[in-house]
Amino acid sequence: MKSVLKLMAGAAIIASMHSAAIAKDLVVGVSWSNFQEERWKTDEAAIKAALEASGDKYISADAQSSAAKQLTDIESLIAQGANALIVLAQDSDAIAPAIEKATAEGIPVVGYDRLIENPAAFYITFDNKEVGRMQAREVFKAKPEGNFVFIKGSSSDPNADFLFAGQMEVLKEAVDGGKVKNVGEAYTDGWKPENAQKNMEQFLTANDNKVDAVVASNDGTAGGAIAALSAQGLAGSVPVSGQDGDFAALNRVALGTQTVSVWKDARELGKKAAEIASALAAGKTMDEIEGVQSFNGGPKGVAMKSVFLAPLAITKDNLNVVIDAGWISKDAACQGV
Ligand code: BGC
Repeated sequence: MKSVLKLMAGAAIIASMHSAAIAKDLVVGVSWSNFQEERWKTDEAAIKAALEASGDKYISADAQSSAAKQLTDIESLIAQGANALIVLAQDSDAIAPAIEKATAEGIPVVGYDRLIENPAAFYITFDNKEVGRMQAREVFKAKPEGNFVFIKGSSSDPNADFLFAGQMEVLKEAVDGGKVKNVGEAYTDGWKPENAQKNMEQFLTANDNKVDAVVASNDGTAGGAIAALSAQGLAGSVPVSGQDGDFAALNRVALGTQTVSVWKDARELGKKAAEIASALAAGKTMDEIEGVQSFNGGPKGVAMKSVFLAPLAITKDNLNVVIDAGWISKDAACQGV
């Protein structure tokens, strides 16, 4: 009798675990900063799929590159009953009050891809300094001396400075030794390709077109820079970096107008972030998250709990990696080659 009871109790536990796994019914609110950019659609699909698998609900809002809208977006996600938030910050300082409101209400916040420097928030991203190193390394390999231009990210995004720090780490010796000259460096407002293009046009004009290499911080800004180079007949002869594995950028890598796109498998980042948000909402602590590490490398040095994923540089030589990973078809990557 005792063992029968034990069995029944065991079955009940398994049944309740099972129902918890398939129907937790928690609501995870995702606040996007600039959803119009290609990469975030991949991240979203991965987040949605992971939440569906854990029986949780996805709700979202897009701030359309406005920090003010993101503030109200987050408040509205909280009002809609979000049990956890995943936030891709447009401007991490500007949205701080909304983040504080969420954490004060006990709603876990996952800073997604971009740092939100609040110890109550979890931080998941790729190693952004390493992305910057990879960008500079590939451009420098192609052009070990000359006039370099730096098309940086948005000044309101801490990633812009992490990337630039990684780029400079690689180039420091060559800059100090006078082999590489920094002939232009500018942030790109809102990471917008058209702003990158304008900055690049100005650098070309200021240097009488004598620009030998362009370290651009993502594929969108690389596209803007390459449009400016192309107008001067320089596309293809000046190495340019990027990141994200955007389809147009991978095609440019195949065509030879872009040297490298650092690939960050957003499918992995999205899946992990959703699992973390769901686990935190279900009561897990940040220390119980698999692979959790400490991070304090932000501008304010705040100690955070984080998970970092590894990026990979994609050049003409290993384009097959993204094709084999099912990220892009061979036809799309090699169109026009
Ligand atoms: C991300 C990049 C992205 C950029 C513009 C950065 O914070 O890390 O992947 O290209 O924002 O959205």
